[in-house]
Amino acid sequence: MNMNLIERDSRYVWHPYTQMQTTPAPIGIVRGEGAYLYAGDGRKYFDAVASWWVNLHGHSHSYIAEKVSEQLRTLEHAMFAGFTHPPAVDLAERLLEVLPSDQAKVFYSDDGSTAVEVAVKMAMQYWSNKGTPRNRLIALKDAYHGDTFGAMSVSSRSTFTAPFSPLLFEVDFIDVPVKGSEEEALEQLRRIMLEREDEIAAFIFEPLVQGTAGMVMYEPGPLDQLLKICREHGILTIADEVMTGFGRTGKLFACNYLEQQPDIFCFSKGITGGTMAFGATTCTQQVFDAFLSGDKLKTFFHGHSFTANPLACAASLASLDILVEPETMESIARISRQHEAFAGKIAGHRSVRQVRCRGTIFALEWETGDSTSYFSGLRDKLYNFFLENGIIMRPLGNIIYIMPPYCSTEEELDFVYQTIELALEKFSA
Ligand SMILES: *Cc1c(COP(=O)(O)O)cnc(C)c1O
Repeated sequence: MNMNLIERDSRYVWHPYTQMQTTPAPIGIVRGEGAYLYAGDGRKYFDAVASWWVNLHGHSHSYIAEKVSEQLRTLEHAMFAGFTHPPAVDLAERLLEVLPSDQAKVFYSDDGSTAVEVAVKMAMQYWSNKGTPRNRLIALKDAYHGDTFGAMSVSSRSTFTAPFSPLLFEVDFIDVPVKGSEEEALEQLRRIMLEREDEIAAFIFEPLVQGTAGMVMYEPGPLDQLLKICREHGILTIADEVMTGFGRTGKLFACNYLEQQPDIFCFSKGITGGTMAFGATTCTQQVFDAFLSGDKLKTFFHGHSFTANPLACAASLASLDILVEPETMESIARISRQHEAFAGKIAGHRSVRQVRCRGTIFALEWETGDSTSYFSGLRDKLYNFFLENGIIMRPLGNIIYIMPPYCSTEEELDFVYQTIELALEKFSA
């Protein structure tokens, strides 16, 4: 049955971020439970990357399944212009309760990229509605905000975006305020303000951890300073918490580490506990008010067929129930402590260039030495090594990371750490 699945897949299906000519056959997953995914051939894999950073509480969680199926039998979907429903309103209330107090409105969409598109369009139209159009955005170097055109535009230019580069709108990229680059980043932002403040609509950033860049981490202090400069100049700020939201960084949101708060938040991935596609963009009353008018042209003309899908709202409500339980918050704290201890243990290893931790996210940058020929295939070697050991790990080049579901036990993580230590011996510079 499994052979059949793989054959049929190769005949009919096109996979994301995959060179279909050279890729090895995919692994057929038939079931998920807790932190594990089960393949058709009976093998099980520890999901160390939470299925592309979406899963919070483990796979096929019975409480979320119950709530979603209940909703499925009550109301599966209804259009959201001119209509509303309890799950959408309940979720907006719940989100605003846990977000910084100045967040006032929730706009639903479909995924991380659309949550970012909504934020970017909201920020641009905010200025246009005020009668002073501004079309430029500021972003951090190496940023990743999604794969649609607006989200690509505010992401760093890379091989991923190369075929589309003439069509991406211009963005001012400033340095990531990692240790040693804080002053330069601040200086670059100040310079942009001097040169063209009146063209800048907003500053968008991944707070504290830049996921796709390779789990690049920076401190709250310099981000606070960047946000303060934006605030002083009246520039809107957009926190893309698509990856960092809902406990990943040790607090409910990465922005909980900050004193300054953004005007707009983007959420997706973990919002439904990883159950299904969904996005949300929240904003302050000030942003919202710029769209209120007797003039219909000031309407935010954006929406998706499945905006505020009741099933996704129900999954999100159920995931939030589990997330705020004391046991879950304790697990998050315990995973963070385990990561820190392991980081301390291996930091001096000759194969380790750097280890980084923030909450439940652990990243290890491999020392590749000068022998780039031997290590050019390191990513694939590591990927396969971990798979053979029953662990799903998707290295970003020479960087491996663990972003486990919060239900991962102490023993399960210890097994991942031990396997990393084996890999450090096997693939050392
Ligand atoms: C994954 C990601 C996105 C895009 O989300 P999709 O649901 O994949 O479209 C946007 N921003 C950040 C920070 C992400 O990690």
